[in-house]
Amino acid sequence: MSMIQRLPFINGRGSRDMSSNPVASASSMADLSDKPLAVRGLTVTYGQKPAVFSLDMTVEDGSMTAIIGPNGAGKSTTLKAVLGIIPRLSGVVTVYGQPLAKSRHRIAYVPQRASVDWDFPTRVIDVVQMGLTRELGLLRRVNADHRRRINDCLDRVGMRDFADRQIGQLSGGQQQRVFLARALAQGADLYLLDEPFAGVDAATERAIIDVLKTLKAEGRTVVAVHHDLTTVCDYFDHVMMINVHKVAEGTVAEAFTEKHLQQAYGGRLEATLMDQLQLGGH
Ligand code: ADP
Ligand code: MG
Repeated sequence: MSMIQRLPFINGRGSRDMSSNPVASASSMADLSDKPLAVRGLTVTYGQKPAVFSLDMTVEDGSMTAIIGPNGAGKSTTLKAVLGIIPRLSGVVTVYGQPLAKSRHRIAYVPQRASVDWDFPTRVIDVVQMGLTRELGLLRRVNADHRRRINDCLDRVGMRDFADRQIGQLSGGQQQRVFLARALAQGADLYLLDEPFAGVDAATERAIIDVLKTLKAEGRTVVAVHHDLTTVCDYFDHVMMINVHKVAEGTVAEAFTEKHLQQAYGGRLEATLMDQLQLGGH
């Protein structure tokens, strides 16, 4: 199996595209306009039980959106179904107003670190180069300009000095930075990240959030599954809260409220934590 196949999905090549799903009616498509990401009626099941049920989601252009919800809420499933990595039972997904088949080159995806096979022997620079796969073509000939861009992406995440290292030898935080560099190399408009801060050191967390905020400042759109409720207000401007169903969606002030958190997490949140959060809705 080639390295591209072993390493996680970059731009959806070879994935199934169900954008021609017959459940999608013309009228439900009409209001999807040209938002970076619009999801209507997304249902995904593993076996019988729905992991995500009838989910609608609209991501605003230039926003930073956190997808939050308890463990097993269907957050990763939502991202994977949006990208066509796993099949949808029903639902319509458009990216900048287009079906995935026409727009997947505008999306970069950083999968959950834990889901990656880190024993695979490849160097940092090769991982970042995969971000250029689409434009390198079959021969994968890297010219000076490509090389410069790869180095620039490594610089942006503070990993230039590690270009020739094996990824398996890096710390969790360093691995996450390399995956972000690969996403940057794609030059995408929409960035989907699955728990980018999970298991990374504080310096890496800072480095990653700085890169994401720079992307936003450039007018790009960032959607991240996010676990740490205490940083939602500092890092994001929009929130999508789910627990199989959608619980709330909107600006942080609209969606990130005690009422919605209680709804999504049930009694699983400590009152002391609730007090620490800069909750909206007051
Ligand atoms: P989250 O990312 O919010 O923690 P996931 O999307 O990973 O949740 O999972 C949602 C639900 O689907 C969970 O109950 C999980 O156990 C189940 N699930 C996830 N992946 C699979 C799979 N490949 N096969 C069967 N069940 C799965
Ligand atoms: Mg997950």
